[in-house]
Amino acid sequence: MRPIAGEGTPEGTWRAWSAPDRWPALPLDPPGPPLVVAPHPDDEILGVAGLMSVLGSADLAAVTDGEASHPGSFVHTPEELAAIRRAETDEALRRLRIDGTVFRLGQADGAIDEDRLAADLTKLLTPGRWCLVTWRGDGHPDHEAAGRAAARACAETGARLLEYPIWTWHWAYPDDPDVPWQRARRIDLPPAAQAAKAAAIAAFPSQIEPLGPAEADAAILPPHVLARFARPFEVIFE
Ligand SMILES: [Zn+2]
Repeated sequence: MRPIAGEGTPEGTWRAWSAPDRWPALPLDPPGPPLVVAPHPDDEILGVAGLMSVLGSADLAAVTDGEASHPGSFVHTPEELAAIRRAETDEALRRLRIDGTVFRLGQADGAIDEDRLAADLTKLLTPGRWCLVTWRGDGHPDHEAAGRAAARACAETGARLLEYPIWTWHWAYPDDPDVPWQRARRIDLPPAAQAAKAAAIAAFPSQIEPLGPAEADAAILPPHVLARFARPFEVIFE
């Protein structure tokens, strides 16, 4: 666990780093639609919307409904937030124009049951199937729990584990020794996929805009955070 606080590493610092130019491209040869595992609604979009757009099909395992994004909100109850965020995911996937099924696993935001998640994912995975999930070292407890559960399900089924960083871009820095950069693979996004990803991210107003004027209703993904997900490439750890 790492602190996710403050402004984090500016996107300009990442853009000035030359190492990603040398990371190998991920060969885009999945045996079928991948399974994308999202601890919270929007993780799948921030992490791999471009990849999903390029592939044209993917199933989504939505682990929680993200009802804990604004504890103490003066505007929405957790139940309202869950409904809003489920609808935002549906709209984002519609904007990506991908075929696939959303499996809503109904876990509690902030308290993922790893054993139950590993069992649920095992039922959805098959040998060789790509399983994209938040990286086990990403620094958010739900992201790390989802990564660990998916790793277990992949070991059990022979599916292929591909981990995507989200909050890593916030707390880490170029050449950070705590990040497995040697396992990084890049997915270069054609302009249409970049545009589709931007449109999909814009489908989450509950996260990218304040819900109201109180501090408890501040945007979770303000512009300096979103800047990290506007790159012309995505990154996974092989
Ligand atoms: Zn998340």
